[in-house]
Amino acid sequence: MDTLAYMKLFFPFRMPDFHKRGIESIWNVSGEDRAEAALSMTFRNDPRAMAMSFMRNYGEPYEWLTEAFLDWAFTFVSTYLYYEDRDIADEHTLNLYRKGLACFEGNAPTYHLSLQEHPVIVWDFHSLMLAVKFLFSVKLTNAKNPMRMCEHCRMAFYAQRADSRFCSAECRNKASKKS
Ligand SMILES: [Zn+2]
Repeated sequence: MDTLAYMKLFFPFRMPDFHKRGIESIWNVSGEDRAEAALSMTFRNDPRAMAMSFMRNYGEPYEWLTEAFLDWAFTFVSTYLYYEDRDIADEHTLNLYRKGLACFEGNAPTYHLSLQEHPVIVWDFHSLMLAVKFLFSVKLTNAKNPMRMCEHCRMAFYAQRADSRFCSAECRNKASKKS
């Protein structure tokens, strides 16, 4: 695919002043625009896509986002139902849940070490998508404060305790009044 045509996908409103000849590319940053100048400095050693994704006019089609959200929702709901149904569902159904989960692709971030007050791990996320996916996976597998679905409003929430059934005191009260 032509580079500029590809870029147009991410800059539907205003294209950055970008020129390409062979494998060489030039990105003209006007002196007026301090934010763009700062970006090009900050990311001068990184792939150009990195700086571009932080630019003011960068955008992605709504459909791409909804697809990502649906993917996460599917993973969450499958996980939730698996443990809800584990004792009553047949093996075929449970296998479908397992297969559904296996489709969630984990693209592992890299990390480096840094000497702060004490040594720390610094994760190198090359995209927001990767950061969200990784943190989502950490939350999904957290046994102490698991992600759960509220039995009253059906919203996802981070449970304070492993056996929490409602997202809030309000939902707990409403549910107990109903029953
Ligand atoms: Zn609720």
